[in-house]
Amino acid sequence: MNVLVFDVGGTSMKYGIISEKLEIITKGVTETPNNEIEFINFVNEIQEANQENFNKISIAMPGFINKKENKYLYGTNIKYEVDFKKLSNFDQENFYLDNDGNVAAYAEYIQNYKDKYSNLLMLTFGTGIGGGIVTNGKIYRGLGSAGELGHILVSDNPDETCNCGKVGCLESIVSAKKWTEKCKELSKIDSNSELSKAFSSLGIGSILFDNSITLTKEEFVVREKILLYLSRGLVSFFEIFNNEIFVLGGSMADKPYDLVELLIEFILKNYEFKSRDFPLIEISKFKSDSGILGAATLALNE
Ligand SMILES: [Zn+2]
Repeated sequence: MNVLVFDVGGTSMKYGIISEKLEIITKGVTETPNNEIEFINFVNEIQEANQENFNKISIAMPGFINKKENKYLYGTNIKYEVDFKKLSNFDQENFYLDNDGNVAAYAEYIQNYKDKYSNLLMLTFGTGIGGGIVTNGKIYRGLGSAGELGHILVSDNPDETCNCGKVGCLESIVSAKKWTEKCKELSKIDSNSELSKAFSSLGIGSILFDNSITLTKEEFVVREKILLYLSRGLVSFFEIFNNEIFVLGGSMADKPYDLVELLIEFILKNYEFKSRDFPLIEISKFKSDSGILGAATLALNE
């Protein structure tokens, strides 16, 4: 049993064939098509080229989907609709479609935690903040688009406009892109600080969470604000879902520095959880192939 998988992002899409043991047999990457026709044509081409090599197709999309109708509806990075029923040889039985955050959360759950826990929430940090919810071992979808954890409202600052159009979303304040922007701004204030020097050689925003760096006063204030808003998000999710674990992923998973320790410290210092324990926070074990592995996990387990 092999799965033909696509992990679609705003600028590029990965695809490949994955075995039931989750071995990547082939993989490739291409630019994300510009419209529905190009999209369907590309998937058709890949299907034809691999005809003998797969039994199921699974596609992870960056936005809202209608699973019943096999349609991708909308996302801030791909704004056109895709009706997957237009694929040649479309076969409902062997076709899987889901949101990329859901797929990532489900893959973490099935591959790493299903024997220990039943309720897992995942947040993926990149340009925005993606999310996925697993409750009682299953993806929670609501009417179809549940799990958009990055778009909960946590701020009343009118300058914090989100890509979704709302003001004050979690992702408009503390996405990985924002960490990098903050490091750039701080570098302009003091280009000789330890943080600025480390940032100029590494270029990644998560360096803000490196505990071995002594921060200036301004840098510390910026980091505390990030921890404050992230904590508001995590604490609110815990109150709603009473989950056992949070998994943080996305591009930052390669170098999270001390983010987890800082978050736990901040949360335990500022909030009380009477007769309950705050969930574990873990960094994703999957790196850049998490999307295609997640899409395969969905097709093989759901
Ligand atoms: Zn938003």
